[in-house]
Amino acid sequence: MIPSVNSIPAFDIKQQYSTIEAEVSAAVLEVLASGRYIGGPAVTDFEQQFATYHGVAECVACNSGTDALYLALRALNIGAGDEVITTPFTFFATTEVISAVGAKPVFVDIDATTFNLDIGQIAAAITPNTKAILPVHLFGQPVDMTAIMAIAQSHNLAVIEDCAQSTGASWDHKKVGSIGHIGCFSFYPTKNLGGCGDGGAITTNDPAIASQLRVLREHGSKIRYIHEEIGINSRLDAIQAVILQIKLRYLDHWNQKRQQIAAYYQQYLSQIPGIITPQELPGGVGVWNQYTIRISDPQRNGGSAKYRDLVRSKMQEKGANSMVYYPLPLHLQPVYQHLGYQSGQLPVAEQACHEVLSLPMYPELTQEQQDQVIYTLKDCL
Ligand SMILES: *Cc1c(COP(=O)(O)O)cnc(C)c1O
Repeated sequence: MIPSVNSIPAFDIKQQYSTIEAEVSAAVLEVLASGRYIGGPAVTDFEQQFATYHGVAECVACNSGTDALYLALRALNIGAGDEVITTPFTFFATTEVISAVGAKPVFVDIDATTFNLDIGQIAAAITPNTKAILPVHLFGQPVDMTAIMAIAQSHNLAVIEDCAQSTGASWDHKKVGSIGHIGCFSFYPTKNLGGCGDGGAITTNDPAIASQLRVLREHGSKIRYIHEEIGINSRLDAIQAVILQIKLRYLDHWNQKRQQIAAYYQQYLSQIPGIITPQELPGGVGVWNQYTIRISDPQRNGGSAKYRDLVRSKMQEKGANSMVYYPLPLHLQPVYQHLGYQSGQLPVAEQACHEVLSLPMYPELTQEQQDQVIYTLKDCL
């Protein structure tokens, strides 16, 4: 299929760069000339600014969102024999790291309206081996952190927030990543705060956790060449740090644009039969890393991957691109067969995988383009 000339991409990071090109290239050239490529003030300044933005005591920058989650689990001493409760409807990295530290992911089904963990089902999944709850603020929508923290406190569990898709979102007037014991962020280019390469950060109010994270990201070493434990090498590059310092100043503005686009989509799509639009919980302010609708199949009660995929390809032919996040829930991934989950066991997440479609969403998306997405979608149902 030849894409139409006016084809609308699902995301467009080049366009955002063009709006800040002068600032970014000057800052990058300065780092290049300085010879300070690893560590130094570029990174510590960014850590300080990111902590301040979140209202937390500590920020530890690292190489990716995946590393942030891995380091968080390690800093909490979670490993073999431990269980971590999380969602099956997220990017694989969330649970990959639970397995990587030797612990076991325990999947709890999601809520059909928010795509986030069904909080009412968490308590039943807690065992004597449970060490932590790992909620994901998926698509930029905050999880009800008040409820999560209440469950965690009553069972003495740690809470690690996966904020990879939700930088800038808040719950009850607090930024996500500042409510649980540890917040984990990704600066992958398509995230709300995206760098020009890989990057990640960890937030916490606990200075002991922060210093342990700093040791673990630096080969388990406090004093150079003296290694007290097995860590990893996970550093944020100075070049990424200066780019992220600049982009952090635009984050709220860009997130407001995303909120306006989501409201516009909501206004025109919520009336269309066969489409279920995403809902925000009262108490949360989402930042719409994705605007994800559900599509039901007119031939069936509910949706089907076949019909959703057909709508998606018809839209693509007409120049409106979209994405499917995610086509297969994590409890049914080949790598997790040994965990023994059956198809049908977490029905809400499984159904979501058949119905979801993420529409174009980025701050620079024009009203004309939004209209085109809406008309095209209507046309293809
Ligand atoms: C992107 C993402 C990650 C991983 O972040 P990377 O920086 O790509 O390693 C983890 N969890 C979720 C929910 C993500 O979307």
